[in-house]
Amino acid sequence: MSSNIRVRFAPSPTGHLHVGGARTALFNWLFARREGGKFIVRIEDTDRVRSTEKSERAVLEDLTWLGLTWDEGPGVDGGHGPYRQSERLNIYREHAERLLACDKAFHCYCTDEELEEKRKKALAEGLVPQYDGKCRDLTPAARKELESEGRSPVVRLRAPLQDVAVSDLIRGDILFKKEMLGDFIILRSDGRPTYNFAVVVDDALMEITHVIRAEEHLPNTMRQVLVYELLGYRLPVFAHVSLIVDKDRSKLSKRRGATSVAEFRDQGYLPGGLINYLALLGWSPPDGEEIMPVSELINKFELERVSLSPAAFDEDKLNWVNSHHLREEPLADVAVLAVRFAETHGLIEPDFARFEAMVDLAREGLARLSDLPAAISFFFDGDLEMEEEAREWLSRDDAKQLMASLVRRLGESDGTIDAGLFKATLKAAGKDAGIKGKDLFMPVRSALTGRTHGPALGEVAAVLGRERVLERLARAAGQD
Ligand code: GLU
Repeated sequence: MSSNIRVRFAPSPTGHLHVGGARTALFNWLFARREGGKFIVRIEDTDRVRSTEKSERAVLEDLTWLGLTWDEGPGVDGGHGPYRQSERLNIYREHAERLLACDKAFHCYCTDEELEEKRKKALAEGLVPQYDGKCRDLTPAARKELESEGRSPVVRLRAPLQDVAVSDLIRGDILFKKEMLGDFIILRSDGRPTYNFAVVVDDALMEITHVIRAEEHLPNTMRQVLVYELLGYRLPVFAHVSLIVDKDRSKLSKRRGATSVAEFRDQGYLPGGLINYLALLGWSPPDGEEIMPVSELINKFELERVSLSPAAFDEDKLNWVNSHHLREEPLADVAVLAVRFAETHGLIEPDFARFEAMVDLAREGLARLSDLPAAISFFFDGDLEMEEEAREWLSRDDAKQLMASLVRRLGESDGTIDAGLFKATLKAAGKDAGIKGKDLFMPVRSALTGRTHGPALGEVAAVLGRERVLERLARAAGQD
């Protein structure tokens, strides 16, 4: 299915990709994928001081890690480029000139200091500071004179005195009063555009049909609608998504925990888990089934079901969603992502199939991959750390005898120890010694893992392998 729907994610490369931005990108991406449209990434880097290449790279890397691949954007030309605003300055200039030529914009020579003084005065008089129109109707001679003083002008839009109606797919119709508008700047004196101007020129030329973005941009939309009108471009559909807030409804803050995609990645969330959770921030599936792979999110996502109220970020819920993904996503995918978490703790397993088996046994009880090393460390050689309770089980009267019997029986078979063989041998050894249930399993689990809880014993023994199993049982029997 293909359609003419075109949406965009337009990050400013001034830091990391935060959950709010990631959710905006995700909603755009899901909408495009569901509708058979195009998802475009545009880098809004006209803030020369705050934008960095490093941040751009990081943001694109985070989008890629999340799987939010773009159909057009940096590195993917779709005939509407360049996709970096800093490479489009001549396009903004041409558009500003078009408006100047038909008197819909004018040059303004007021300096920052002059404007600041007027602003302060207005505030002191209890008025809303507004551009006073000083340069609105300058004669060519007056302009020349100002230029000869060495002043370089900005370009301001000649804002018509009219209320502006914005119709929003999520928030309904909103009317902005004309008093809120002044003749706002569209081009700075150094030729760089302001956000409200560049965004409209780009969205129009990139043929964006739906602008889906954060609610905080709603007030800007009033100005942008005017720019569309004065340039004679067709309005897109607007959809402003509510903010993400903390559990206590305050602004999401770093102090309370991770807020960027990179941090969540480093803590061991899966891209599928994070995507699933972010989708639930402000959107709810029609059938109430919250856990789903991304393919199902695409099928179910509808902008009409995006909520008006702010979405509260809840780490417990994120963990719950992620734990499902850890259990349910293909083992090989989870294991590939798990490698670096194990390796940074010195847990290096060259046999990938064996590593996969460990991850498979451990993933039942995990919320994040950063909890994996602690869950699998007993599989590795080195001193087995003993929990106090495990030590107690092993110090019981009959434990040594049980271990010895197990070692003898396992020693009789000389092949691999698989789960079935281990379980059968354990049963037989238990019978010999007249012990069963907890009294049988706990000492053996303690001997093999140093712990009293964990995955099924037969499977643990199979992954540990014959040599380690015999060695650990013998040690517990006091035979080593
Ligand atoms: N560069 C803007 C931001 O990062 C994008 C706003 C928009 O989507 O129009 O917030």
